[in-house]
Amino acid sequence: MGDASIPSFKAADLVIQLSSAPKTKLDVFAFGTVFTDHMLIIEWSFSGGWEPPLIKPLENLSLHPACSALHYGIQLFEGLKAYRGDDNRLRLFRPMLNMNRMAKSARRACLPAFDQSELLECIRQLVEIDQDWVPHSDSVSLYIRPTFISAESSLGVKKPTRALLYVILCQAGSYFNNETQAVSLWANPKYTRAWKGGTGDCKMGGNYGGTLFAQHEAVEYGCQQVLWLHGEDHQITEAGTMNIFLHWINEDGEEELATPLLDGMVLPGVTRQSVLELTRKWAEFKVAERYLTMGQLCSALKQQRLKEVFGSGTACMICPIGQIVYQGENLHIPSQDKNSRLTSRIAQELTDIQYGRTPSDWTILV
Ligand code: PMP
Repeated sequence: MGDASIPSFKAADLVIQLSSAPKTKLDVFAFGTVFTDHMLIIEWSFSGGWEPPLIKPLENLSLHPACSALHYGIQLFEGLKAYRGDDNRLRLFRPMLNMNRMAKSARRACLPAFDQSELLECIRQLVEIDQDWVPHSDSVSLYIRPTFISAESSLGVKKPTRALLYVILCQAGSYFNNETQAVSLWANPKYTRAWKGGTGDCKMGGNYGGTLFAQHEAVEYGCQQVLWLHGEDHQITEAGTMNIFLHWINEDGEEELATPLLDGMVLPGVTRQSVLELTRKWAEFKVAERYLTMGQLCSALKQQRLKEVFGSGTACMICPIGQIVYQGENLHIPSQDKNSRLTSRIAQELTDIQYGRTPSDWTILV
């Protein structure tokens, strides 16, 4: 296992300290509120390299008040899920894609490299230890939050000489309150989430903290999420914390499933990649990663060429989008519920893979 050329911790060195007081498992599935009994933690320093990985009872971190993760946002995270299938086995969905994205974010944050498959094996063991937290249910899963922060205890803006990689787990139900309803998006071009040459394609905390103000405005105007636009021509990039897909008849009269291309401003979602690969395999319509603007979306809507719009992401998987509020207009997307033809078909096929009903090399057993 692993790539010997990368100085890394090794799963074989994992130290496990089990909790002597496991918590009562509550049926509270609000996203990110109920954490399991254990965490994985791995320390790194420039002088000593990686320490052996440790699984221990979940507890608070102790950080110096000057910690540069707190001051300058030198940190990153990941998000993936474990699903309990009909066969009672837990599965991870394409976890190496998350490990790979995490390694890329770490590189961009000047945090040290690690061996991705060694981290995955440590996470697998953590999930195995806390697996009783995952009931069998199509609407409940275990959310895995790998986190990597600078532990540098000085105020200089510099490459960290100490770091902390840790993983926590929580129960996850539906991310949005009204799971079966389509979400509404607030598209105000005065806000932008990311820009060329920035860090929008990495999963760094600063990309998210900076969105709260716009998100708050969206809610004030009766919408659930922000549709992130960019540039003079109001280029469509992402929807909240989801990638976005348009199913339409394109300008050339072709049936197309289109999503913004990965131009450095868009997070390369695992679900996005899976939707693209799945629908390309069907070979039933054109599947495109392309430049998309609000002007194109509005024309398609006016000319009745727009069929469905949906978001994709680990939290909600496939989420229909029903309405976009843009420049004082309520744009109603024609097909806007989970029963929409393409949205529900993709959601069903991905769920069947995640829960082990369709055998696939996209899942790994815990
Ligand atoms: N875009 C953003 C900004 C996100 O935070 C996420 C969630 N990770 C996604 C897209 C979807 O990515 P994934 O399918 O890997 O969850």
